[in-house]
Amino acid sequence: MASALSDKLSRLVKDMRGQARITESNVQDMLREVRMALLEADVALPVVRDFVARVKEKALGQEVVGSLNPGQALVGIVNRELVATMGEGVSDINLAAQPPAVILMAGLQGAGKTTTTAKLAKHLIEKRKKKVLTVSGDVYRPAAIEQLKTVTRQAGAEWFPSSPDQKPLDIAAAALDFARKQYFDVLLVDTAGRLAIDEALMREIRELHAALRPVETLFVVDAMQGQDAVNTAKAFKDALPLTGIVLTKMDGDSRGGAALSVRQITGAPIKFAGVSEKIDGLEVFDAERHAGRILGMGDIVALVEQVTAGVDMQAAQKLAAKVKSGEGFDLDDFLAQIRQMKQMGGLSQLMDKMPSQIQAKAGQVDMDKAERDIRRKEGIICSMTPLERRKPDLIKATRKRRIAAGAGVQVQEVNRLLNEFEQMQGMMKKMKGGGLMKMMKRMGG
Ligand code: GDP
Repeated sequence: MASALSDKLSRLVKDMRGQARITESNVQDMLREVRMALLEADVALPVVRDFVARVKEKALGQEVVGSLNPGQALVGIVNRELVATMGEGVSDINLAAQPPAVILMAGLQGAGKTTTTAKLAKHLIEKRKKKVLTVSGDVYRPAAIEQLKTVTRQAGAEWFPSSPDQKPLDIAAAALDFARKQYFDVLLVDTAGRLAIDEALMREIRELHAALRPVETLFVVDAMQGQDAVNTAKAFKDALPLTGIVLTKMDGDSRGGAALSVRQITGAPIKFAGVSEKIDGLEVFDAERHAGRILGMGDIVALVEQVTAGVDMQAAQKLAAKVKSGEGFDLDDFLAQIRQMKQMGGLSQLMDKMPSQIQAKAGQVDMDKAERDIRRKEGIICSMTPLERRKPDLIKATRKRRIAAGAGVQVQEVNRLLNEFEQMQGMMKKMKGGGLMKMMKRMGG
């Protein structure tokens, strides 16, 4: 994505290479970019201010590790802060109550309450093996009651009838009584929404809350609402003790900034994300993936993080120095490289984080097979004696057979590994040591 925060930051720091710390003087411009990126992602202004202040505090004085420049390091900090803020307290539905556990759904009309009620019913039936009853308290819109009936059927749950001539509190009491007598584990209560916040609506849902004493009070909010989500969230938070958030319409093209706003304003954890109109379109909220979406760079941030966490820069530097000093590259070094690949989270996991174009290209490669290969190579080298690893020339027919037997492979595989090692050794000689660091840097940036 052209406007990715990482690109902007990288451009900004082009002329400050070699700076090893994030300082008051180099951080200002970078923070401005962070602020812009968050506003572009539709995070509400007061939330952005708060967030940027926290990032600044964490960033100042930070050492910039390994091959990262300060811009990339800041992306890492922003990302971690986003994940920490949005991911805090993420958990499945709490059902720790005397059955039936009551779940109250709150939110504006059109937010996706009714759809989400049915999605949750399905989730609780399939994943938690619960017996689930739904009921609608929306006495203002007969169509809403019918809609709940339809989607509840699709979810495979039971629906408790209600009608526009009843009072929401009476409906709730009757449904609760029925759920108790019929041994339901969970009662999901869909409520009336209005197009905008109004006092009568808030009073009504407060009364419902007091009567039902729900174990979960979920605030359902449309991720496409962007900046407006803040006002809605604030009104519902003031009216009700919210225990969780469901962000709907995440399949839309919003950058998802509402997640950060709503999380920060309500203090309630984001539990689920709605990802389609269909009944199975509900996912447990994934803060890491969502942070990438807000920053507009897919999973690139995660990749940067993984590379810096996984690559042991000290080991790489030692290796580079060794090759440079003419000590040569031996099988122990080869093994260290193979292990580094593994540390980086495995090939297929790494590929998952790559942008889709690269993934498509890599599609022809069988990742599982590649990983199995790595493990076999590791096994072969581990079957060698320390002397053999330092002096691979010693490995002739008898030793090869012993090594193959030890690793549980054919002799041909030992040969193949030795060939590969020789090629790598040749490459290392050509690069005269400096090349390896460059290679690593390219991976890190
Ligand atoms: P309510 O008024 O809060 O009960 O909202 P509804 O459940 O009736 O949903 C309003 C509209 O949003 C309906 O057309 C739903 O199909 C749609 N909707 C709800 N959740 C999602 C979602 O996660 N993704 C998409 N694409 N549409 C959704």
